[in-house]
Amino acid sequence: MKRVDVIISGGGMIGSIAAVAAIEAGLSVLLIEANKLHEIKLDSPRNLRVSAISWDNIQTLMKLKVFDELIFERIQAYSHMQVWDNRTNADIDFTVDFSEQACLGYLMENNNLVQAAWKKLKKSDNCDIVEENTIRSIENEGSQVRISLSNGDQYKSRLLIAAEGRNSSVRQSVGIKTQEIPYHQKGLVAYVQLEKAPTETALQAFNKGGPIGILPIKDKQFSIVWSLPEEQCQHWLDCDQTEFEEGVKQAIGKDLGKITLLSKRAAFPLTQLYANKYFENRVVLCGDTAHGVHPLAGQGVNLGIGDIKQLFEVIDIKSLKDDDLLRLALRKYQRRRISQVTETSEMMSALHHLFKDDNHIKKPLRTIGLKLLNNSPLKKWFISQAGS
Ligand SMILES: Cc1cc2nc3c(=O)[nH]c(=O)nc-3n(C[C@H](O)[C@H](O)[C@H](O)COP(=O)(O)OP(=O)(O)OC[C@H]3O[C@@H](n4cnc5c(N)ncnc54)[C@H](O)[C@@H]3O)c2cc1C
Repeated sequence: MKRVDVIISGGGMIGSIAAVAAIEAGLSVLLIEANKLHEIKLDSPRNLRVSAISWDNIQTLMKLKVFDELIFERIQAYSHMQVWDNRTNADIDFTVDFSEQACLGYLMENNNLVQAAWKKLKKSDNCDIVEENTIRSIENEGSQVRISLSNGDQYKSRLLIAAEGRNSSVRQSVGIKTQEIPYHQKGLVAYVQLEKAPTETALQAFNKGGPIGILPIKDKQFSIVWSLPEEQCQHWLDCDQTEFEEGVKQAIGKDLGKITLLSKRAAFPLTQLYANKYFENRVVLCGDTAHGVHPLAGQGVNLGIGDIKQLFEVIDIKSLKDDDLLRLALRKYQRRRISQVTETSEMMSALHHLFKDDNHIKKPLRTIGLKLLNNSPLKKWFISQAGS
């Protein structure tokens, strides 16, 4: 039986950054990942999953020294955001306040970020990583959690962090229930080249059916996230290149020059997910295991990094060793995070419902809403939320 301070199940973006935060807090860690990590190099084909990481969270990645391990040639800073509604022509612009920060955030492939965190972990004597394994059983034993892995190994720890994404088996096995509200949409992702799109600017166009996000990656290359009604998505996955490019052009609704599809296409179901609570005894939830939000403002990973920051603000080796202190710490974590996540998630849902159809009451509201937003402190809220 091996002992560590913290076990983390799930070595995606949130689990692996949580593991780095734990070793930086002086704790010993076991990270368990169901799959094998595939190494990416400077010239590896691009991964279709890309995330916008806010400036605040970039600061966190810098402090954890994960940022230094990224393949820099594969990340892109963005300093502006332009959002518009194609049916009313209402629009809003966000520009970074350079006196406060260097950019609004960075765009990066998810696997670039995961690899960076793993590189940092592999340099530490305080972290073991087990790939292609999952937890088979969990038992509470006094002030510790005992787990058995699918390879038969057993470990004990003071805390088990579940960061296994939406379909977490640890969350299920400790009996934490979830509420899942389908958006009846899928997020179609692909890379395109846009001849005349502005550089360092993330774009988002709202349409009936769902928004399209256009994220600058390099030169004239962009990653798109096109939220589509479920019943239409398959068509846009299967249609030929010319029809797809025309569809993207219509969805953008502005002249950004010639559009060329550069990659395969893939789609992911979009649902809002809430876990009813964030901890049970010594098991705590982080990232998509605890919450899922609509990707229309690129908040998922950002909320997950927010979880990690708050969790490691409240726990330390002293609280891990004391049942009462740990319960208090985890309650504090749960209270703060549920309030923050609910605020963000409800705002994303409200935007989704406001923009998704042509209801005659919502149309003027969209115009007024975007105009008001452009001149209100809420605009700052949008910029700052990306860091929470
Ligand atoms: C189309 C789309 C676009 C998005 N764009 C953005 C964006 O721009 N910005 C943003 O912030 N967010 C974005 N998101 C959301 C973001 O992708 C998620 O919030 C993020 O992936 C959550 O990370 P995670 O580590 O919690 O979960 P995941 O990324 O799901 O990682 C979970 C990890 O756990 C592993 N695992 C699963 N089960 C087990 C198990 N039983 N045992 C061990 N390991 C296990 C998996 O293999 C995986 O490695 C987007 C989402 C979608 C669908």
